[in-house]
Amino acid sequence: MPLIDPHKRRIDYLRISVTDRCNLSCVYCKPRTGMKMLSHAEILTYEEILRIVSVAVPLGITRVRVTGGEPLVRRGIVSFITALKQVAGLDDVSLTTNGVLLADMAELLVQAGMPRLNISLDSLVPQKFSRITGSDSWEAVWRGISRAEELGFFPLKLNMVPVKGMNDDEIADFARLTLKRRFHVRFIEFMPIGASDRWSRDACVTSEEARSIIERELGPLAPFSSGHSAGPSSNFQIPGARGVIGFISPITHHFCDACRRLRLTADGKIRPCLLSDTEIDITSPLRAGCDDAELERLLRLSLEIKPERHYLDETPGGRFQRTMSKIGG
Ligand code: SAM
Repeated sequence: MPLIDPHKRRIDYLRISVTDRCNLSCVYCKPRTGMKMLSHAEILTYEEILRIVSVAVPLGITRVRVTGGEPLVRRGIVSFITALKQVAGLDDVSLTTNGVLLADMAELLVQAGMPRLNISLDSLVPQKFSRITGSDSWEAVWRGISRAEELGFFPLKLNMVPVKGMNDDEIADFARLTLKRRFHVRFIEFMPIGASDRWSRDACVTSEEARSIIERELGPLAPFSSGHSAGPSSNFQIPGARGVIGFISPITHHFCDACRRLRLTADGKIRPCLLSDTEIDITSPLRAGCDDAELERLLRLSLEIKPERHYLDETPGGRFQRTMSKIGG
């Protein structure tokens, strides 16, 4: 029986966080101080993750995204991706990175069989990037993006989270990148998950606001469809542009009824909804020697606790126990 939840959503996508560590400290994502990091022993080993994947795939998980924290900081990540690519039945393995280490690792990722990448970037201005991330690595990230482009990763998605007063003045500049380059630039609404003092409804630039800023500067956007599932992104193009512009709107237009994903945190919790703290511990039974049938039972149990939708409208100031870097964004 495939993984179908009580709301008739078929789950086929697993986001795997391989670490809670990150080489950036983005102001809206992770508090700069007071974060207790997981110990080595608390983090699932690659072998443990692969075992969970081997149980999940026959249940209908066909797509996996590797994330973190920053996945490229974990030692052995390329070998892990190579091993994931060899799991029969897994059609799609992808990666989300901040790009800091990408220039040196992009070629290895090609060799591991990774065809496409999502790269997070919140500013095109090096000094502003440093203020947002606490790191002077804008040039390294840009080198990584250019290297990935050169090596033919496609699509190459650049994810930007516009926050009022932080980087909302760069929305049109990001959109402009698509004119000459085949980037897929996506604007993601800022969610109340992360450094808890930063979020407010006012700080969130809605997709509609981002779109009208772009249209004011660059003219009307035309709907875009690649023929493939766009996931949660509504896609558009500046007529004649090489790239694509997408909007992901978890705040203003939740896409919960189409949600097909589960998350596995670095410390081995199945988190069925990004915006709900209800999780299932899979590490303890795994390390106590449970059999595959028990892992399957826990995966199925996680469908029972997957909420029908998020409840941000009812609790707009709702805060979550984990930051995005600790869940796996
Ligand atoms: N380090 C990798 C990266 O930078 O892509 C993967 C993890 S990071 C947590 C994944 C994504 O989550 C990034 O694009 C980041 O901008 C986004 N993110 C973090 N906190 C967020 C928030 N409160 N609202 C919306 N997106 C957020």
